[in-house]
Amino acid sequence: IVQLYTPLGFFGTYYRMIQTSFIDMENMFELFEEGQEIKDEDEAMQLSMDAGKVEFDKVCFHYTPEKQILKNISFKVEPGQTYALVGPSGSGKSTIIRLLFRFYDIQSGVIKLDGMDISTATQESLRACIGVVPQDTVLFNDNIMNNIRYGRVAASDEEVEEAAVSADIHHRIVNMPDQYDTVVGERGLKLSGGEKQRVAIARTLLKAPNVVLLDEATSALDTNTERNIQASLARVCAGRTSIVVAHRLSTIVSADCILVLKDGEIVERGRHDELIEEDGVYADMWQQQLIESTESGNGKKITKKN
Ligand code: ATP
Repeated sequence: IVQLYTPLGFFGTYYRMIQTSFIDMENMFELFEEGQEIKDEDEAMQLSMDAGKVEFDKVCFHYTPEKQILKNISFKVEPGQTYALVGPSGSGKSTIIRLLFRFYDIQSGVIKLDGMDISTATQESLRACIGVVPQDTVLFNDNIMNNIRYGRVAASDEEVEEAAVSADIHHRIVNMPDQYDTVVGERGLKLSGGEKQRVAIARTLLKAPNVVLLDEATSALDTNTERNIQASLARVCAGRTSIVVAHRLSTIVSADCILVLKDGEIVERGRHDELIEEDGVYADMWQQQLIESTESGNGKKITKKN
């Protein structure tokens, strides 16, 4: 019995791990509608990442041949840097993130992680190196302790609590009816958007990946919530290579590099002040943003404008 139980138990754990990254990504990208299957090559190798360098080299991509989506995209993110992707809706920001997670294979060019072409790596080893903080996080019908533990199923209760503290959700949890045993999700306690994002941050902290992909929430959060989330997001990105589909000015202003996308091309790149100086597309977006923030008294989005 013991002999049988162990591998099955391991399989369950392993399955849940894979399942988790898929569920979050599915949620992030509405994968169900897409349903394309990527297969590992027969000779696929383990991707062992240590530094966390991300490279796109002349990447061209389409979902369907009639419509080219990414045209000759090249950029290099050095280990530990934060890159922000900005641009109008439909310009290809999320597609770049999907390709990095290899939900699709590209038509030409190459995507490399620490020098290795990701199409030659096993998907499992690729996804193990990458953490994702989606806009909207899926909660399982389980207690909050296990919901956070999905980030690394072998983590101890203490490690889960530590992650919750760093993600700034511990205080909220200890005030729940059954603290860490409180069941959350559809059939349990409902969490707010900000709280769910903190769960995603805590999971990612537990997973401790080299590369973090982050899709910032577009919905307005109140200023206090936002300030706190920003601090936890900064903790999850600290020391890791981060690629952020950015909607928040604070993220954008402090990014090592902003890539401005338009119709699947990088039309401008540089730091915030350099792009303002350039007085092009980004500077226009920024101006627009300032006008809107004066009008609404709260202008925190810089994308989604056509
Ligand atoms: P947003 O800011 O609205 O999220 P985005 O810049 O992230 O936009 P993408 O989601 O990358 O844009 O989409 C880029 C283009 O690809 C869009 O024209 C979109 O309609 C198209 N597209 C996205 N997913 C698919 C798909 N599965 N099949 C076909 N076309 C798609």
